Amino acid sequence: MKIVVLLSGIDSLIAKKKIEIDYPDAEIVSVYYDYGQPFKDNDLASLPDDVEVRKFDLAPDLYPGGVSDVNGRNMAAITLSCQWYQPDMIVCGFLYDEQGSYKDDDIIFCNLMGRILQRIYNKPIKVTSPFFEMRATKSEAIEWALCNGFTIDDLTRTVSCMFVEEVGHQCGTCFKCFTRYMAFLYNGIDVYKQYQNHPFSKAENLNNVFDRVSNSDYIYTEAMRYFLKLSDEYDVAFALSSRSINNYLKK
Ligand SMILES: [Zn+2]
Repeated sequence: MKIVVLLSGIDSLIAKKKIEIDYPDAEIVSVYYDYGQPFKDNDLASLPDDVEVRKFDLAPDLYPGGVSDVNGRNMAAITLSCQWYQPDMIVCGFLYDEQGSYKDDDIIFCNLMGRILQRIYNKPIKVTSPFFEMRATKSEAIEWALCNGFTIDDLTRTVSCMFVEEVGHQCGTCFKCFTRYMAFLYNGIDVYKQYQNHPFSKAENLNNVFDRVSNSDYIYTEAMRYFLKLSDEYDVAFALSSRSINNYLKK
C-alpha cells in the first residue's frame, strides 16, 4: 500500500504519525507543496528532512497581504500527488475545529475527491484526514501526539504563522498563531516566547477567548485555567474580566 501525506505543519505532522501507526507496512511518502506561499522557508525549516518538495503556481492575487491559505490549494495538491505517486491513499491534516474556511478542507471534500480520483485512475484512492474523522480539534490532536511519541520540542519546532518576516519568526497575533497558542495552552504548554507579540495583545484574539469561555467552550476554558493557574473552583470568566491577563503580559 502506498500512502502520500501532504505535509505542511503541525497538523499534518501529527496526522502522518497516526497513519504510520495505523498502517505499519505501508510505503509512506511525505510531500510539501510550494505554491508561492510567503512562509514556505519557515515551513521547510521545521519539517523532517525526508519530505519531498514539489511546486505549482497559484495566481498571486489570490492571497493579498501574503495570506496564502487559499481555496483550491488542497485540491490541486491532491491531484498532483496522484499524478506523481499513484498512491492508494492521500492524507491531509484537516481538523474538525478548523473546517469551513475553504471548501477543500473537510471530510466532505475528502470523500468527493476520492470518488473523482477513483473514476479517473480506475482504482480506489482514499483521501482522508484522520483527526478530522476522529472529530478532533487542534488541542486534541496535540494531546494525542504527546501521548504517542512526540516530544514537546518536536511539536513546538513547527510553525503556523501566516506573516513570516524571516525564518523562525512567528508574529503571534494572526489567527494561526493564536489558535496554535491556545491548543498548546490546553496541553499545559505556553509557547508565547516563540512569538514576536503575545497572542492576547491583539483585541480580536482576546475577545475570541472571552466569547468562547463565556459560552462554556471546554477547550478554551481549560486552556485559560492553565494560563491563569486557576484552581477548579475559580470562576474563569471572572478572572478573565479582571486584570490577570494584563498583569501577565507585563511580566
Ligand atoms: Zn502569525
